[in-house]
Amino acid sequence: MTRRTVQTELAFGADSLRNIGIETPERDARRLMAAALGIPPDRLALHLRDEIDDDAFYRYLGFLEERWTREPVARIVGGRLFWGRWFHISEAVLDPRPETETLIELALSEPFSELLDLGTGSGCIAISLLAERGEAIGIATDLSESALEIARWNAREHGVEQRVAFETSDWFAGVGGRYDLIVSNPPYIAAEEMDCLAPEVRDHDPHLALTDGADGLTAYRAIAAGAPAYLTPGGRLLVEIGYRQGPAVAQLFKAAGLEDVAVHPDLDGRDRVVSARRGQTGVS
Ligand code: GLN
Repeated sequence: MTRRTVQTELAFGADSLRNIGIETPERDARRLMAAALGIPPDRLALHLRDEIDDDAFYRYLGFLEERWTREPVARIVGGRLFWGRWFHISEAVLDPRPETETLIELALSEPFSELLDLGTGSGCIAISLLAERGEAIGIATDLSESALEIARWNAREHGVEQRVAFETSDWFAGVGGRYDLIVSNPPYIAAEEMDCLAPEVRDHDPHLALTDGADGLTAYRAIAAGAPAYLTPGGRLLVEIGYRQGPAVAQLFKAAGLEDVAVHPDLDGRDRVVSARRGQTGVS
């Protein structure tokens, strides 16, 4: 029998995923293999020539079988890396996306000291930002109690639990205070677009986190209405958007009296974030 190494089994796994039309077969095989071996995905390259023992091999096969049914990788292995940190996920939260790192990068491009994250899900945005800015504090909200449980867990893992309060809230409803940075990745898929989503998204991400059941803009209307009163003068608002929503969301923010409204692309060149700022004087 030929020797089973990490490298030969990665090739086998990637081929099997490619054959059923998975878009990122190599990457998915690597993430499943790393989980089967119990090592971080970014350490895998050091183990390519290692022989894989039977336990790890059968764990890997089991993971591949789940992926063959279109179960998303992060849900098979229980989490994923986001902005360099591992986030646990559950069925109550959105699987964090690499595109959302565009929002993190923009948020970190200016100082902030008090952060509000609306609809935090796994907590990946608030926790990454607080972990990167050791002096900052924040509030992270979600409508879902089960989402907040995962977010609290992740906050403890990354040592920011003393600097973040998790609150059950429908957008601004349960929140007080003023913030120099408000961030959100709200549900923005329109009801009529739900059928077009990949099965990994449509059948596995919680619908509460994906869609408003309407035109996809409901959350931005609530955020635009509340943001001026919750931002400090000069404070910033950053929201993730669907790639065709830039003009509509920018318009909502301008109509709410916010300034410096801009639409930013992600690494694929598609519109992904809208930023705005409260004026130094201006609104409420
Ligand atoms: N980015 C998600 C998608 O795959 C949607 C997330 C959201 O609605 N916030 O389409």
